[in-house]
Amino acid sequence: MKVHNSLTRQEEELSPLEGNTVRMYTCGPTVYNFAHIGNFRAYAFEDILRRTIEFNGMKVRQVMNLTDVDDKTIRGANSAGVPLDDYTKTYKDAFFADLKTLNIEPAEVYPAATAHIPEMIDLVSKLVEKGIAYKSDDGSVYFNVRAFPGYGKLAHIDFDHQQTGARCAADEYDKENVGDFALWKAWEESDGPVGWDSPWGRGRPGWHIECSAMSMKYLGETFDLHTGGIDNLFPHHENEIAQAEAATGKPFVKTWMHCAHLRVNGEKMSKSAGNFFTLRDLVAKGWTGREIRYVLINAHYRTGLNFAFDALEDARKALARIDACVEKATDGEAPDWAKSRLEDFAAAVNDDLNIPKAFAALFELVRETNAKGGAGVLGVFKRMDEVLGVIFFGKAEKEEAPAEILALLEKRSEARKAKNWAESDRLRDEIAAAGWIVKDSREGQTVSKKQ
Ligand SMILES: [Zn+2]
Repeated sequence: MKVHNSLTRQEEELSPLEGNTVRMYTCGPTVYNFAHIGNFRAYAFEDILRRTIEFNGMKVRQVMNLTDVDDKTIRGANSAGVPLDDYTKTYKDAFFADLKTLNIEPAEVYPAATAHIPEMIDLVSKLVEKGIAYKSDDGSVYFNVRAFPGYGKLAHIDFDHQQTGARCAADEYDKENVGDFALWKAWEESDGPVGWDSPWGRGRPGWHIECSAMSMKYLGETFDLHTGGIDNLFPHHENEIAQAEAATGKPFVKTWMHCAHLRVNGEKMSKSAGNFFTLRDLVAKGWTGREIRYVLINAHYRTGLNFAFDALEDARKALARIDACVEKATDGEAPDWAKSRLEDFAAAVNDDLNIPKAFAALFELVRETNAKGGAGVLGVFKRMDEVLGVIFFGKAEKEEAPAEILALLEKRSEARKAKNWAESDRLRDEIAAAGWIVKDSREGQTVSKKQ
């Protein structure tokens, strides 16, 4: 499995540093609002990445942080007049529901920043002790970028053409204004009730320190893989490297991967341009999570994705075509032509997650199945869907139900014909206890495996 490493700017083999588990950190959402589809492009890319690692027989330990204290969450909570925790809980819950809508596999750990303040204070203390961070007149603690020789290695910054030295309290700044950045921010009146005691007085952590502290807590001082949107590369990820490596003296992360921007109808998404969509906005317009997922993953992650309603229409048609074909597929030994398509598929996903090419292999399989019949092809569709996560196996699942479940279904059908509803319900419960869900419709009963 080869991936593009942003740090070396080369394609490299991805294999775990230790054992068979890839340790992966993903910058998660700032929970001050509902996440938009640009955010979800990055989370969908990370889902494809983790599924591809698993497709190759490796395990994944993924940590995704929840930024529940920063300028935006504090502003939101204080202007709503509610405690910070209450304010962010709404958006944390919404985020997890949205991940489900998009069929994104859950990470192993979702650490919240507010639950890890002591770890962040420890890390800042280490940097102060080493003389790499200092307390300024305003009571905040800053990282001295000149004291860490590796600063700029991820973003490839050439310091000779920079004016540096200014201090920057804000969490985000651009490459032209590299300055010392805040690790700990002194309490200000606008913070209201939000704040924690520290060796430098009351305050709160900067955004960058949270990811260094929490990733190392759950994944170790050196780990395999760190991902995020391209927006996070500088300064956020550059600063994560500086904080971690200056404190430990060890390499922080082996492989960095970044996904490109999403545009809507060819333009940058913005509220003022009227092309700003949360996932919920699209679901309210009648699009399914599966259709939205299809569009989000069906472009190479390192190229810009243009999100357009035409693409959702195309996704709906494409998925219907796949569904109709999968209905014809059955279990058993796959024919050679289907195995070849699976090989094409594997080669595509292992070539830096080339999902458009992987979909081409899937559609070739659909075309051939339609022409040659679906005997033995179901397993190939299922294997491809371990990565894609968009195929509906509802109908096929019915044919897969074991004989004892089919016998119970038959009995239940008889009971219903005899209008013996109590017996029908009893059989439904018995089937459910065995792990299968019965649905009744005009066409009769269907059964699917409990997820
Ligand atoms: Zn981060």
